[in-house]
Amino acid sequence: DDVIRLHHLTKRYGDTLAVDDLSFTVEPGHVTGFLGPNGAGKSTTMRLILGLDTPTSGEALVNGRPYTTLRRPMAQVGALLDAGAVHGGRTAYHHLLCLARTNDIGERRVAEVLDLVGLTGVARRRVGGFSLGMRQRLGIAAALLGDPRVLMFDEPVNGLDPDGVRWIRDLMRSLAAEGRTVLLSSHLMSEMALTADRIVIMGRGKLIAEATIQELTTRY
Ligand code: ADP
Ligand code: ADP
Repeated sequence: DDVIRLHHLTKRYGDTLAVDDLSFTVEPGHVTGFLGPNGAGKSTTMRLILGLDTPTSGEALVNGRPYTTLRRPMAQVGALLDAGAVHGGRTAYHHLLCLARTNDIGERRVAEVLDLVGLTGVARRRVGGFSLGMRQRLGIAAALLGDPRVLMFDEPVNGLDPDGVRWIRDLMRSLAAEGRTVLLSSHLMSEMALTADRIVIMGRGKLIAEATIQELTTRY
């Protein structure tokens, strides 16, 4: 299991077809990348998988079920979406503790994930004063909180310095090596080539092409 399956997934906002009849499966043990320009529908697809939006038609399933019907969802799927959207008045520790409490996750795990992302030293500071890179790390800590088998990262290198970029790349590779399902979105081919095993190229909500990195680099 540990798969994300999209079946004719479609999302329309007014006249915009943000996601247009997308069907594919994201397999465990790999980093799968959504590559495409801004507006291609990458974020919307992730939001639909997380049940933050409802499809116009089709479905997005996690382990065979819609996200909103999963028991203990954060133990199954973790996501870094819009890191900038974190409520700024809370400390990093409090933000994660609230998420842990609503998801039946022990407080010990909060300290663990803060350590994993390198934020232990600033855990008692308010998130409002955090740089974008620190917010990205906090978002990653939230994604890891439930020790999920499926992880999604939307533009995870935004705001990170070169050390941070290497760190998140190594993290995604090691999560996949542990057999987890990792879905990454980026508009940067260079980033994809270094991180993903398989690339799904998106444009205007559609799947344009799908290939392994080896296929892309030998065929084109
Ligand atoms: P990407 O993540 O690839 O940059 P998005 O999924 O954010 O693409 O956007 C896909 C398209 O859907 C864009 O044209 C965007 O303007 C539109 N869109 C996304 N979210 C909304 C929304 N909540 N309301 C209206 N249009 C939206
Ligand atoms: P709000 O601030 O709108 O109340 P929360 O941040 O408390 O939202 O999250 C509500 C629910 O959304 C969580 O209980 C969890 O199921 C899901 N959720 C939040 N953050 C994540 C994440 N990083 N990964 C996966 N699921 C998440």
